[in-house]
Amino acid sequence: MTIRFDGKVAIVTGAGNGLGKCHAIALAARGAKVVVNDLGGARDGVGASSEAARAVVAEIEAAGGEAIANGADVTNYEQVEAMVNEAREKWGRVDILVNNAGVLRDKSFSNVELDDFGFVLDVHLMGAVNCTKAVWPLMREQNYGRVVMTTSSSGLYGNFGQTNYGAAKMGVIGLMNTLVLEGGKYGIRVNALSPCAATRMTEDLMPENLLGLLKPESVTPALLYLVSEDGPNRTIITAGAGTFARSIVYETGGM
Ligand code: ADP
Repeated sequence: MTIRFDGKVAIVTGAGNGLGKCHAIALAARGAKVVVNDLGGARDGVGASSEAARAVVAEIEAAGGEAIANGADVTNYEQVEAMVNEAREKWGRVDILVNNAGVLRDKSFSNVELDDFGFVLDVHLMGAVNCTKAVWPLMREQNYGRVVMTTSSSGLYGNFGQTNYGAAKMGVIGLMNTLVLEGGKYGIRVNALSPCAATRMTEDLMPENLLGLLKPESVTPALLYLVSEDGPNRTIITAGAGTFARSIVYETGGM
């Protein structure tokens, strides 16, 4: 049975590319109204959405779906709050939040700068905190919410050159674990998706090492299940594996 999202409103962050784009298009194709968020190349603020997000919206509209582009930087709470308010004003609710925005600053721990560490923590961990904090009161009021954290095998098991990313990704698991407890009586379910897909984030890996990286289209069905009405709670789905590919980049002195 195809999962449908008719009447539901979703926000997908970092949806101008890769996985987020694929998630946004799939949600819209199944009836959801979608906020396609992406900072894109330019640090444009609220109301001046990035080109990548606008292109995804055009694709959704061409297929008969409904979406709006949003350029909020997930590390900026005011911009994130304005994004949630825009969705609420336009469609009256927000049912689904997919925390997908991400960046990489891969370096071995010996070489990583503290600024690189802070930047990655800020986008992945504080970005997820900001977005979830901004939708939380509305989800409680609705007595309905589905939130997904995007985590990684780097957080769960470690990966070469990714101390910063791994720490941030384990942080979102901690966030999920408590949100599950506090959101339960308000009908809010929180889950995590741990993908390793062939996207811009993994393009530095040599093609022969791409084994284990899935196409975004093969990861998105797991996301659809996690945010569905009858979906699970506090579940982590792992799809794909990139750890060994990065070990080769490390061994060959690339980090
Ligand atoms: P993946 O698809 O593997 O998650 P991508 O790099 O293709 O990797 O996608 C991550 C997306 O997150 C990018 O489109 C990027 O522009 C976006 N992004 C990065 N930082 C932010 C931010 N601070 N706010 C919103 N989106 C962001």
